[in-house]
Amino acid sequence: MIDLRSDTVTRPTQPMLEAMMAARVGDDVFGEDPTINELEAEVAKQFGKDAALFCASGTMANQIAIKCHTRPGDEVICETNSHVYIYEGGGIAFNSGCQVKPLPGVRGLINAQQVVEAINPDDIHKPVSRLVCLENSSNRGGGSIYQLSDIEDIRAICLQNNLKLHLDGARLWNALVARGETALQHGKQFDSISVCFSKGLGAPVGSVLVGNADFIHQARRVRKVYGGGMRQAGYLAAACLYALDHNVARLESDHNHAKYIASQLIKKDFVGKMLPVESNMIIFEVHGRFTPKAFVEKLAGSGIKCLAISPTQVRMVTHLDILPVMVEQLGHIIEHM
Ligand SMILES: *Cc1c(COP(=O)(O)O)cnc(C)c1O
Repeated sequence: MIDLRSDTVTRPTQPMLEAMMAARVGDDVFGEDPTINELEAEVAKQFGKDAALFCASGTMANQIAIKCHTRPGDEVICETNSHVYIYEGGGIAFNSGCQVKPLPGVRGLINAQQVVEAINPDDIHKPVSRLVCLENSSNRGGGSIYQLSDIEDIRAICLQNNLKLHLDGARLWNALVARGETALQHGKQFDSISVCFSKGLGAPVGSVLVGNADFIHQARRVRKVYGGGMRQAGYLAAACLYALDHNVARLESDHNHAKYIASQLIKKDFVGKMLPVESNMIIFEVHGRFTPKAFVEKLAGSGIKCLAISPTQVRMVTHLDILPVMVEQLGHIIEHM
C-alpha cells in the first residue's frame, strides 16, 4: 500500500514507540509531566518564545490562539482557503464569536497590501479588526510557502494597526526545511504559532502552541475549558520530542519525492495544470482520458491511494512512510498509464 492521501497517515516507527514507552510521565494538569514540560520548553526555545502549550490537535491549538487574541464580535483576517476558516467546523464563530474577513490569496498566500485594505476603520458600524491568521505552508495552496519578507511586511502592518498575528504552522517545518530558514526567524514575526507533530513529523498525536508568557497562561485556561487538559500525556509528548530530534531534516527527502512524482505526472496527456511543488504536496488537474475520480480509482487498483480534492483536481502528499522504492514504483505505474 502506497498511501499518498495525506501526511497524517503515518504510523509511529519502532524507535518512536520505544521512546514513548520509556517516557517519564506525571499529571500535566498539575504541571507535573516532565516529558510535556520538556517538549514545551524545547519548542518555545526553538521559536524564541517565552512558553508553549501541548495540545491534542492543530485545530485545538489554532482555536485556543484565536480565542485568546480576540473578543466576541471582532473580525479575523485570513485567506479564503485557510484551515482555520474552512476546516475547523466554524470554530472561529463557535468558540470565539468572531467573524472572518476572508481574502483571496495566491495559492493560499496573502500579502501586506491585502491586509491593509481589509482592516476596518474605527467606525461603530464595523467589527474591530483584531487578528490576522497566516498558514505556512498552505495546505489548499498545495504546500506553498511564504517569502519571509512578505511575512515581515504583514507583521509591520499588524504592528502599525494594533492587530495580532497568528501562524497556523501545521506544516511550518516543511516550509523551514524547504527554504533553509529557522524557527527563530519565524518566531520573531508572530504573536503565536501552532505547529503539528502529526503531519510530516510522523508522531501519532500532538500540536504545540507558542507565544509569550501571558498568552500561554491564558491559553492554558482556554485549553482546560475546551476539555484539552490531559494527564499522563507525556507518552504522546515523547513521540513529539523523538520527531523533533529525528524527523525534521529528513523532510527534504519528502520534498524531493514530491518533485520526482510531479515530474513523472507532468509528462502525461491527462495531467493538466499543476501547482508549483514547493514542499511535500502535488496538486494537479486531471482531464481527457481520466476524470479525477477515475484516475484515483485506477491507482487504487495498483495499491496506491490519493485524493480527488475537487471535481478537477487530485492531490498527492509525501511523508515519512513513503519510501524511495515506493516512489520509484509509482513513477513506473504513472509512466505506463
Ligand atoms: C492538519 C492541519 C491542521 C490541524 O489539523 P488537526 O487534524 O486538528 O491536527 C491545521 N492547519 C493546517 C493547515 C492543517 O493542514
